[in-house]
Amino acid sequence: MNSHDQYREQIEAYAIGSLDDPDRALIEAHLASGCADCAKALEEARWLVSQLAYLAPDAAPSDMLKGRLLRTVRAEAPAVPERQSPVRAATVPWWLWAGVAALLLFSVYSAWNEQRLRSAVADLQQQAETQRAERQKLEQALVAAKLQAHEAMIWSDPKSVKIMLPAKDPKMPQLEAMWHPEMGICVRGWKVPTLGDKRVLQLWLIPKKAGSKPMPLVTFWPDASGTFSAMVENPPDAMSETQALAVTEEPIGGSEQPTGAPMWVGGLS
Ligand SMILES: [Zn+2]
Repeated sequence: MNSHDQYREQIEAYAIGSLDDPDRALIEAHLASGCADCAKALEEARWLVSQLAYLAPDAAPSDMLKGRLLRTVRAEAPAVPERQSPVRAATVPWWLWAGVAALLLFSVYSAWNEQRLRSAVADLQQQAETQRAERQKLEQALVAAKLQAHEAMIWSDPKSVKIMLPAKDPKMPQLEAMWHPEMGICVRGWKVPTLGDKRVLQLWLIPKKAGSKPMPLVTFWPDASGTFSAMVENPPDAMSETQALAVTEEPIGGSEQPTGAPMWVGGLS
């Protein structure tokens, strides 16, 4: 018997933790050397142990399981000299051996198993947390991509109407808006000066109907380079009932009614 065969024979005993220190060290060294055959056998033995821990009393083990159990229990047997035993191994029904083996394995392995289960549960929780974070990132990316696609469609669709918004202050750049009858309104600008702290820009819809108030649409703010792009998916009024779009500067959060004169106004023809 070469050393590999010898280790192979001891795998079950090793798996239930019944090997003495020198043998255990030898088999661990052999496993560490990368023997795939023994590693697989160990994995099988551990699976077997985990199954035994949950074996229902009336479940009939397969022939393979029976064979392994008997071998495992016999491997434990030398502690009791056979001639002193009133019951010969051959006369003991397999199910009794199976029961003894299950109890033995269960007691030896319940602690090991519990620890393994605990770490498996921790791993699963960690995995679930990672997956949740990834899904959230993906959902955010999807929302952003949908908005971008929606904006791009408004800017490129032939049904959209372009509205230029010249600035009241000649030093300020002009803004431009695009209104699509079904998809909404987009407004964008470049080189817009940075706003004060806690200030935003707000887009308003000025209705044609005499005496009606400007309707607040959306707030936005330019980035460090003065660029912005904002979208209104559901304008409160139809294009035909709108006189103009206007932009004012407002406190952060926006206002119900404009608090200052419009900085940009673009009329609809
Ligand atoms: Zn081996």
